[in-house]
Amino acid sequence: MLDFKNFNLNSNILNAIKKQGYKKPTPIQAQSVPPLLKGNDLLGIAQTGTGKTAAFALPVLHHLMEERDAAGPRVDRSQGRPIRALVLTPTRELATQVHVSFKAYSRCTKLRSTVIYGGVSQNPQVKFLRSGTDIVIATPGRLLDLMNQGHVRLQDLSWLVLDEADQMLDMGFIHDLKKIVSQAPED
Ligand code: AMP
Repeated sequence: MLDFKNFNLNSNILNAIKKQGYKKPTPIQAQSVPPLLKGNDLLGIAQTGTGKTAAFALPVLHHLMEERDAAGPRVDRSQGRPIRALVLTPTRELATQVHVSFKAYSRCTKLRSTVIYGGVSQNPQVKFLRSGTDIVIATPGRLLDLMNQGHVRLQDLSWLVLDEADQMLDMGFIHDLKKIVSQAPED
């Protein structure tokens, strides 16, 4: 039986999984986590409720922890805390859910995450961004607004997740997505 321990995840992340009460990886996690830990790109398809969020969140958090430990070349701490992972979602409800999951899985680490979506005042979001965050979970429209105002810079991004990409395309986010991706490092 495959166990989370087989993934060789960062021990702080493994502790959080234990605290969540997860006993073993779901099929989408068993298939996605190993290639993502190797740094590969991945296109995953699974029904809702099958553990999709952890399938991408755990490897992303692991890499951010490893980069932090190794003080990776891209991470210049004198510039504050750059955004290193971005998760885009079609709706604010999904963004909020994904944020809750990231907070749970990173509870034993010092990584910071924030959620950004439209339809509410941008001021608290800008304030949080100024204080520094490793991970941003966002809907495309508000993120682009904040990028255009200079509140979000993506030049240090290492990880990009398009959650429910099919729905984002159905909702007409393709132009926003292209603009956002064009501001991220090519690799
Ligand atoms: P998701 O598909 O990511 O929305 O996850 C659906 C639900 O499954 C959430 O309540 C998760 O906390 C839970 N979950 C995710 N991975 C596991 C796992 N390996 N074992 C048990 N529950 C899990």
